[in-house]
Amino acid sequence: MAYVLPPLPYPKDALEPSIDALTMEIHHDKHHGAYVTNVNKAIAGKADLEAKTVEHLISNLDAVPADIRGPVRNNGGGHANHSMFWKLLGPKAGGAPTGALAGAITSTFGSFDALKEKIEAAGMGRFGSGWAWLVVNGGKLEVVSTANQDSPLMGKAVAGCEGTPIFGVDVWEHAYYLKYQNRRADYLKAVWHAVNWDAVASLYAAAT
Ligand code: MN
Repeated sequence: MAYVLPPLPYPKDALEPSIDALTMEIHHDKHHGAYVTNVNKAIAGKADLEAKTVEHLISNLDAVPADIRGPVRNNGGGHANHSMFWKLLGPKAGGAPTGALAGAITSTFGSFDALKEKIEAAGMGRFGSGWAWLVVNGGKLEVVSTANQDSPLMGKAVAGCEGTPIFGVDVWEHAYYLKYQNRRADYLKAVWHAVNWDAVASLYAAAT
């Protein structure tokens, strides 16, 4: 098997009350687990693909045979996106970014509040399932959104946007429906209390 479901880096109830334990359990074990199982199934026996990191795999979908490109895009994307998402959240988190990232946010968006509004709007504007992202593109911060399990890493021709994601919010209903039902806006506001800004800052430093 090329890929393994990474364990959650904190207990399932660590993000309460922003994200409830049952949602975390089903989201991680079942949804993320299925993406891992299905991307492994799609590339089984193709040693050249199995040797790549999942981020490399989805960044180069042209190198994936056409007959498995769809499953690799959806499930490889799902594996990469969720592996990142768990690390961007954490217990006793929230607050505001600091350092170089905070400076870049202020100079790009005007304020941290303006960034939050922009990400919430990107999440609310995504019809159906997908993600809202903060990316570094050409050295600059941008807020973008993708459908389904597409990642900005897939590039403009595939995902409709590009860049290195440094933060993302899953707006699939499976990410919030048990606690928030149809209230995606409430979920998006609650997520801010669980963001691990040190993790986001590390990704920002690596991307710039
Ligand atoms: Mn999800």
